[in-house]
Amino acid sequence: MFSEDEIEPLSRKFETQTPQEIIQWAVDTFWPEVALSSSFQTQSMPLLHMAARIKRGLPIFFLDTGYHFWETLIFRERIASEWQLNVIDLYRNPRWDVFARQRVRTLPLEDPDLCCFLHKVQPMQKALLDIRAWITGIRRDQTVIRARADILELQEDGLLKINPLLNWTTRDVMRYIEENKLPAHPLLEKGYRSIGCAPCTAAIGVDDEERAGRWAGRGKTECGLHTDMFRHKELYLDLE
Ligand code: SF4
Repeated sequence: MFSEDEIEPLSRKFETQTPQEIIQWAVDTFWPEVALSSSFQTQSMPLLHMAARIKRGLPIFFLDTGYHFWETLIFRERIASEWQLNVIDLYRNPRWDVFARQRVRTLPLEDPDLCCFLHKVQPMQKALLDIRAWITGIRRDQTVIRARADILELQEDGLLKINPLLNWTTRDVMRYIEENKLPAHPLLEKGYRSIGCAPCTAAIGVDDEERAGRWAGRGKTECGLHTDMFRHKELYLDLE
């Protein structure tokens, strides 16, 4: 629907627009072939809150890796119920079940890239095959890789990735949460400011960067959803 030449100026224009305006444009343009992904942590609340107000029934993909804190799963249930969200759980391809069960304790530590590929990247790739626009909650202030992102990113296969919160900072997120009295993930008060899977998430100090507790000390900062790993869709298709 859009060429790269059309997306670039539109993306630049969105740099000065609000996340709500960008989400509204995404829904108006792509519904019903648009979805949002969320990890249901405290910093996810603003995007979910905006989406719930803008479009009831918007599909929200949640990667159920099997490694989540139980607090995350309970929090996800609570928010989905109270805000009447259309949450769709994504799971790894069953063909990897035997392999993954044999390594359930060791895989996240011995080969986190493969573990993330099986439990996050592949399931999201598959879910997005039927979608034309993917709304994410990434922000430029989170990682070096995310700092280079654009608000609109057209993938080679035509999928448009939309990052409405890209210009927001941690302070913006917390201000929106306070102003709208949004709930916090129960582990936030224990020092978990960014939360992923339990084996790969640690509590951090008040002066640490937000994602310092993710794969701490292991040289990994991204699961692969927002790196070149995600664009290697042929890896998934070859395994079907
Ligand atoms: S974050 Fe850790 S446990 Fe979760 S999929 Fe990635 S490596 Fe596996």
